Amino acid sequence: AVEIRLKSRPQGWPTAENFEIVEAEVPTPEPGQVLVRNIAMSVDPYMRGRMNDTKSYVEPYRLGKAMLGGAVGEVVTSTVDSLKPGDVVLHHLGWREYAVVDAKQAVKVDPDLAPVTTYLGVLGMPGLTAYAGLLEVAAFKEGDTVFVSGAAGAVGQVVGQVAKLRGAARVIGSAGSAEKVRYLVEELGFDAAFNYKDGPVAEQLAAAAPDGIDVYFDNVGGEHLEAAISSLNLHGRVAVCGMISQYNSTEPTPAPRNLGMLIGKRLTVRGMLVGDHYHLQQQFMQEVGGWIRDGKLRYSETVVEGIRNAPEAFLGLLRGENTGKMVVTF
Ligand code: NDP
Repeated sequence: AVEIRLKSRPQGWPTAENFEIVEAEVPTPEPGQVLVRNIAMSVDPYMRGRMNDTKSYVEPYRLGKAMLGGAVGEVVTSTVDSLKPGDVVLHHLGWREYAVVDAKQAVKVDPDLAPVTTYLGVLGMPGLTAYAGLLEVAAFKEGDTVFVSGAAGAVGQVVGQVAKLRGAARVIGSAGSAEKVRYLVEELGFDAAFNYKDGPVAEQLAAAAPDGIDVYFDNVGGEHLEAAISSLNLHGRVAVCGMISQYNSTEPTPAPRNLGMLIGKRLTVRGMLVGDHYHLQQQFMQEVGGWIRDGKLRYSETVVEGIRNAPEAFLGLLRGENTGKMVVTF
């Protein structure tokens, strides 16, 4: 059974050389565990951080060991009453074909309710990140003008649409290609969108939001955050969710140069981790699940086939080759 191990730690941008594709033995479950054949796995930006040997909010990946990450798979053998062969579960042992999972760490999902990949995306961790980040961390309220960066990605596509459905006055997104900008405006109903590669973010944002913004959902950091601070209105709020523009940096990156504006504008800037917001899980599944069922909320997935292509899928994610959630199926 194939598994993908971390072979070396990247300096700057990772490459295929940092990964090792290995044929390993199919493991045997101990009491309390289940053997799962994975069907789909997630590649996520936070995995870049885990490739470094630095102290963070998640453990670094270990050299020579299989990598970890969200996955959905089918139970093959079970030692517990709560799960039986054929059940489909969400768990944290991706990057491998077969996983032995502690039954307590496996969450049963319903493959008839929604495609299994959605439990890694729009109905999974990224979807909840969007929902909780907007509603709880940024304290979004009806009538707000919202700006989201990384808007055509897994988290961003949900942020913009939840804002619209919850009564935003105006929703603006930024993304890295003309096609993604078109997707945001024409398919997801964003009021405006721009390609951050076309010119200074501050200018493009100011043009898209002539009356300023009330909420910034930050997936990118750097120039985007600086531009947002300049465009934020009095009592504006920022959910700092990610800073993907810096994940491959080898040098410390300059802070936004306009932090002084936080004072006069009385801005609130809050970092977030989705793990703190699982109390919203049920509400999220009901509200967002309902919108999807009613065709009010749309989503994209970029699906790469074959576990051996998982490293390339991950590298492609960092380069922006995905629209919506990047997943690997096998
Ligand atoms: P995405 O699906 O958004 O994929 C990453 C995207 O980032 C790419 O598609 C690319 O799109 C964009 N990107 C890459 N480099 C840059 C750059 N230099 N400047 C601007 N955009 C760039 O990933 P997710 O939706 O899964 O994650 C989005 C963000 O949310 C990440 O920063 C991630 O770390 C964070 N996150 C945080 C969580 C938390 O608990 N705090 C939980 C989940 C995610 P493009 O073509 O537009 O450049």
